[in-house]
Amino acid sequence: MKPVSAWGRLSNDLHDVHVLTDRAHVAPVLAAHRPGLAFGNGRSYGDVCLNPHGHLWHTTGLNKFMAFDDATGRLVCEAGVLLRDIQRLFVPRGWMLPVTPGTQLITVGGAIANDVHGKNHHAVGSFGDHVLGVSLARTTGEVLSLDWTQTPALMSATLGGLGLTGVIVTAELQLRRVGSPWLRTETLPYQGLTEFFELADASEHDWEHTVSWIDCLAGQTARGIFMRANPMSAPQAAAMPSLKAVLAAHQQKTQSQPLRMPFVPPLSLVNGLSLKPFNMAYYELQKLKSGFDVAHYEPFSYPLDNLQDWNRMYGPRGFYQYQSVVPREGGQLAVQAMLDAIAASGEGSFLAVLKTFGNREAKGMLSFPEPGVTLALDFPNRGQRTLQLMDRLDAIVREAKGRLYMAKDARMPRDLFEAGYPRLSEFAAHRDAGISSAMSRRLMGV
Ligand SMILES: Cc1cc2nc3c(=O)[nH]c(=O)nc-3n(C[C@H](O)[C@H](O)[C@H](O)COP(=O)(O)OP(=O)(O)OC[C@H]3O[C@@H](n4cnc5c(N)ncnc54)[C@H](O)[C@@H]3O)c2cc1C
Repeated sequence: MKPVSAWGRLSNDLHDVHVLTDRAHVAPVLAAHRPGLAFGNGRSYGDVCLNPHGHLWHTTGLNKFMAFDDATGRLVCEAGVLLRDIQRLFVPRGWMLPVTPGTQLITVGGAIANDVHGKNHHAVGSFGDHVLGVSLARTTGEVLSLDWTQTPALMSATLGGLGLTGVIVTAELQLRRVGSPWLRTETLPYQGLTEFFELADASEHDWEHTVSWIDCLAGQTARGIFMRANPMSAPQAAAMPSLKAVLAAHQQKTQSQPLRMPFVPPLSLVNGLSLKPFNMAYYELQKLKSGFDVAHYEPFSYPLDNLQDWNRMYGPRGFYQYQSVVPREGGQLAVQAMLDAIAASGEGSFLAVLKTFGNREAKGMLSFPEPGVTLALDFPNRGQRTLQLMDRLDAIVREAKGRLYMAKDARMPRDLFEAGYPRLSEFAAHRDAGISSAMSRRLMGV
């Protein structure tokens, strides 16, 4: 037994950990050690990847590339491969993952099980839109081959299925062609949510990546930084010879030892004293970068990946992330109400991310993305005060007919989960009876 935490570090319970390294042995290990749960790289914030005092099947040892077709961009790999390893191997060959979240330190299995989204959701959908098939080990000892034509229902339950339908052993992914590792970016400060929505709407057709950071302590005067980017083609990049030197410097930096948060401070470094000046300083600093620029895809897309263990700065009690999506109709009012509730509570978030999702339904029965606007906030765990604020935010999300993201959740009430995920009973029929998680017990009863 050993202690395991998720990314929010809200708990550190003992787990009976079984390391999976050989795909031929996955099904026998599951059958011998059940009920259990797959654990990828633990980048989920709450309890979706935890099974306290029970079995946990660790997948990062399943890290082999199996096949790649350079003509079509189809990649077959084991499910414990990190997205970063795919990107670093294939970008120099002219291929990239179509969708990645705000960190690339996650596994392919974790990306499928949470059907993760990126900054380009409005353009290309979520991770699952590019998964062609998977092999799925069940705790009965069988291994099933799934795809969208032969087994559409189990495929749709497994995508975004929170690891509850089986362990994904391998996956076939569709990569996309890319001309260079460079992005042409534009940074635009904005004042108020109306301006945010205008920018989001105006960017939807011409910009592949859009995201914004918002100062959630500023209340009615909500101000933020809108960022948008497009991949650069090979000729565009070639026309900028200075980029070669920047790329060499970037490669040197990524090969050297990454920075690390060296210890867990006794108290959260994110508190009432540090948040307001931090948010103000961040806004002013980013404002200076207004206008067009060129960025390598790694620092633009994964700004936190170079500071290892940054989650330790929240201190020994850890932190919550609260990510909601609400429909566009009424979305502005709902987001404003959430910002007002946060400003009134004094419980600020230092990383508030606001983005619109595209007008497309996800393929997974429990996938999070849906048409609308999504707000993600980090709150240091201050016990009851923090939970009360999140209850107030729940009421706003419930009224706006939105939902919360399970990859980030550790405390949502069951009624909000059931209201937000109407395909839940359809999903239940596809569960593997030998799999259970802290989240499934909390929200589904088993
Ligand atoms: C800095 C940061 C930024 C983030 N940004 C985003 C973002 O922009 N968009 C977004 O969508 N998410 C985002 N996330 C969340 C993250 O992408 C997801 O939580 C992701 O699922 C984590 O993958 P993992 O490999 O660490 O899996 P874990 O967190 O270990 O597990 C996640 C789920 O996947 C299941 N699972 C893992 N492997 C398998 C497998 N082989 N078979 C079956 N089930 C499996 C687990 O049981 C669990 O239910 C972010 C997280 C961080 C830390």
